[in-house]
Amino acid sequence: EKKLERIVQRIRSFPDFPSKGILFKDICPVLKDPEALTAVIDLFEQHVRQTYPQVELIVGLDARGFLFGPLLAQRLGVGFVLIRKKGKLPGPTQSVGYTLEYGMAEAEIQEDAVDAGQKVIIIDDLLATGGTLYAACELLKKQSAEVLGCMVLIELKDLNGAERVKPSPLFSLIQY
Ligand code: 5GP
Repeated sequence: EKKLERIVQRIRSFPDFPSKGILFKDICPVLKDPEALTAVIDLFEQHVRQTYPQVELIVGLDARGFLFGPLLAQRLGVGFVLIRKKGKLPGPTQSVGYTLEYGMAEAEIQEDAVDAGQKVIIIDDLLATGGTLYAACELLKKQSAEVLGCMVLIELKDLNGAERVKPSPLFSLIQY
């Protein structure tokens, strides 16, 4: 449809970034175009209202999940919570380690961020190997949250990230 087309037009590819052999999808032009950004939030909102009307919190991933998550949370009238890279959040935190395409990383959440049983949706800009979203799911499991699903703007199909995120369902707007 029209909205998806507009978003697709605003996604650029950069070869060999941030390292050789990686084709990086750049979503900056989506943010710069108000119509495309509105389309992204419209489509996410539509999916959540149809599929997860019981959602209580949107959880966004460092760093580009922070660009879309709060806009979506506002539309839905729910709160927003951050999962950050290690060492960025004050106070007591919980963390989970995970593997990246290049190396290791740790994801962190504030200990009191989510109540037990709270129904959450995790959002990020892009799914590659699924390592980042998997770590987020593990963190939320530790907090006894109920992960309804994961949502991304872009899914890189060849890397099979959706498998790694299972059993949480994955929703993506655009697939490559
Ligand atoms: P994964 O953990 O699924 O392998 O990688 C996904 C994470 O890396 C996401 O947080 C995403 O922001 C970032 N990422 C990896 N590749 C790309 C890319 O090509 N474009 C963008 N925008 N982000 C990427």
